[in-house]
Amino acid sequence: MGLLIRNGDIITADKRYKADIYIEDETITEIGENLQVPEGTEVIDAAGKYIFPGFIDPHVHIYLPFMGTYSKDTHASGSQAALIGGTTTFIEMCAPAGSEDTLEGYKHWKSLAEGNAACDYAFHMGVTRFDAQTEAQLREIVADGTPSFKVFLAYKGAFGIDDEALYKILTLAQELGVITTAHTENAELVAQLQQKLLSEGKTGPEWHEPSRPEYVEADGVHHFTTFLGATGAKGYIVHLSCKPALDAALEAKARGVDVAIEAVIPHLLLDKTYAERPDFEGAKFVMSPPLRDKRNQAVLWEALERGDVSTVGTDHAPFDTTQKAMGKGDFTRIPNGIPAIEDRVNLLYTYGVSRGNLDLHRFVDAASTQAAKLFGLYPRKGAVEVGSDADLVIYDPDYRGKLSVKMQHMNVDYSGFEGVEIDGKPEVVTVRGAVQVRDGQFIGDKARGRFLRRETLKVAGG
Ligand SMILES: [Zn+2]
Repeated sequence: MGLLIRNGDIITADKRYKADIYIEDETITEIGENLQVPEGTEVIDAAGKYIFPGFIDPHVHIYLPFMGTYSKDTHASGSQAALIGGTTTFIEMCAPAGSEDTLEGYKHWKSLAEGNAACDYAFHMGVTRFDAQTEAQLREIVADGTPSFKVFLAYKGAFGIDDEALYKILTLAQELGVITTAHTENAELVAQLQQKLLSEGKTGPEWHEPSRPEYVEADGVHHFTTFLGATGAKGYIVHLSCKPALDAALEAKARGVDVAIEAVIPHLLLDKTYAERPDFEGAKFVMSPPLRDKRNQAVLWEALERGDVSTVGTDHAPFDTTQKAMGKGDFTRIPNGIPAIEDRVNLLYTYGVSRGNLDLHRFVDAASTQAAKLFGLYPRKGAVEVGSDADLVIYDPDYRGKLSVKMQHMNVDYSGFEGVEIDGKPEVVTVRGAVQVRDGQFIGDKARGRFLRRETLKVAGG
């Protein structure tokens, strides 16, 4: 049975027009005015609402082992929260530790998601070791439809890799048409500064930022982009947080290095004073790179408006207050992460479009279309076109409310955005033609989500 969405204001990365959308099975099959549809078609009236392509979060952690514990969301809770917030696809970081087998890690992450996700999903393959066997496995993983890698210049001794491995991974990525995403902080500087601060008795969450200052991230960006230049590989800097790092990335782009930049919602809206809150409250706001001095926020927003920052993700990684307490007396033991998968779209819309200078089309581009293009999903995802997957968000721009832990669906006992106002929220959300959210509530098929096989840069022509 078909689905007709009538009278909506369709808004994509480059177009705005009023039309009806007809969906058959999983796909958009017709867009036009006053469409005639078969009897029995379900009709949704979207008058007064925006219709966006389903939003894509390119940086999510669902299953995340970290410092001996695990992030709180399951694929069930994380994907349902994502959908309520308008995200119909997320790309999860598959991050086995350096001591683990890469292919086994990949299969393990996939098996956890399979049958348990309500929205579609894909993975960035974390590469935390490199040898002949790993290389063969990575070829297999790319052939399985996962053509993006993730490397960590940070987290020495856990996920971090050395320069020989970095060079070889990027060389392989270039050969295969794989985009390599990178967490860019200088690991050695972080390790040394952490030890120095701890030895001075500086143990609280407020010392997390000083242990990885802005220049540490700028150095990581410079390092990564230098290696991209040397290998000709395409890169993507995740969660870029500050002006010196942005300057380093833009300088590399100006040199001809092929690199895209992601910002994440916490860095756009929160600053380091949150992590300085007393009574260990600051631990809720510990992530890496850390929340920065507030002056960086305007710099990031402007780069986003210009398109120098391509995408906005979350780095969603929910650890509850009990888990955060592991780091009492030693900030280096605080699990990193600020939950946001449910709130990203509404926050970006509110503080970008509704109350800021972000163009409505740039908003769609940054929250959906660019991620689809960079990661081999376009125009199946990130577009409202005949032939695209029918992932649609019917958005109510007249909604007014506040975020709170009391209402959220993410499986964690706090909100990093408690009491923050939002202007607008998704009313109806479809995943490949199935209504998964209605009246803002998840009402759909808990196992609707499917693993997305993606195209390499060679196929996508990027
Ligand atoms: Zn991350």
